[in-house]
Amino acid sequence: MAQLSRRAFAQLIGAATAATALPIPVIARTKSVRAAHSVRLSANENPYGPSDAARRAMIDAIPIACRYPDDAIDALVADLAKLHGVSERQILLGDGSSEILKLSSMAFLSPARPLVVADPTFEALPIAAQGAGVDVRRVPLDASFAHDTVKMLPAAQGAGLVYVCNPNNPTATITPDKSLRAFIAAVPGDTIVLVDEAYHHYATSTGYTSVVDLVATHPNVVVSRTFSKIYGIAGLRIGYAVAQEATIKRLSAQQAWDTVNIMGLVAARASLTDQQHVAHHRLLNNEAKAWLRRQLDQLGYHMLPSDANFVMIDLGKDVKPLIAAMRTNGVEVGRLFPAMPRHLRVTIGTPEEMQRFVDALQKVAEAKKAA
Ligand code: PLP
Repeated sequence: MAQLSRRAFAQLIGAATAATALPIPVIARTKSVRAAHSVRLSANENPYGPSDAARRAMIDAIPIACRYPDDAIDALVADLAKLHGVSERQILLGDGSSEILKLSSMAFLSPARPLVVADPTFEALPIAAQGAGVDVRRVPLDASFAHDTVKMLPAAQGAGLVYVCNPNNPTATITPDKSLRAFIAAVPGDTIVLVDEAYHHYATSTGYTSVVDLVATHPNVVVSRTFSKIYGIAGLRIGYAVAQEATIKRLSAQQAWDTVNIMGLVAARASLTDQQHVAHHRLLNNEAKAWLRRQLDQLGYHMLPSDANFVMIDLGKDVKPLIAAMRTNGVEVGRLFPAMPRHLRVTIGTPEEMQRFVDALQKVAEAKKAA
């Protein structure tokens, strides 16, 4: 990956902001109102927004907003089936991939069929499961912050579902292809393995592959994907599942009608045609991440290897007060993850936003030293 000097990075700031500056709208809320000029590095969004093709598609779709989205659903499902080399009956769209996670909890878990997850991992599924009275078996990540598939295997006995987030949120680390595939081969056939590939497009490590191909041979494998990350349309709420037809039927039986909307559907379809947008935004993400790593090295902080659009930084001390201090300084960063109380999760933003982050971190860290 190209190394960027501070000056080159500053030039990149100019180029990136001139091209696609995307202010965060301040939307009045009843609770906390975001500070006017704050930088949001807390939700793992793509700061550059939708591709030009998606923007045009949404404008063109305004007149058909009066229609229910059936035709647009069929069209996106057909595109995704083609993309993944599966039948249209093997795709289920969701109101974001969050809906796929929720449907999975409803379809495959019960008080008699526990959930197995890594610790820490993305909490949406464990939260949904716990709300439904399901036991959650948590298995700590291994020393390289991968899913500990050896320890997860006994935990999977009798479980309704094992959730594997790859790359994992909040650590941004991958679970190597070899151990994940061996795990899936060994899990009992009546236990679903849901592999959440929300950050698939950002993963560049050689040990990473998607497991979509395993759907062909494994009725118990579900892969979830989203348009919220590299495609830059988190606000439009489109995600999907790929699985065998019978498994998709179990998921769709839990779903309300038409949970996806016309704008999201047309934007998602258009996004698939714009692969340059994906490659360009992966590059911008990697450049900003490499720059951040060098700044952190200089400041004496270590960050975990990252295969996503966020990083986990070891601060060596309780991160909670720092999260609050960063917010006061106009930089919103990830929340506390109880399994890693000394690590700070930071989304990779634009070069300008990353500069704001580093400046605030330095200021806050120095203030702490002086206190
Ligand atoms: N899965 C993972 C691992 C995530 O980090 C997120 C959001 O941050 C989601 C799923 C949910 O994404 P969405 O519902 O926007 O598709």
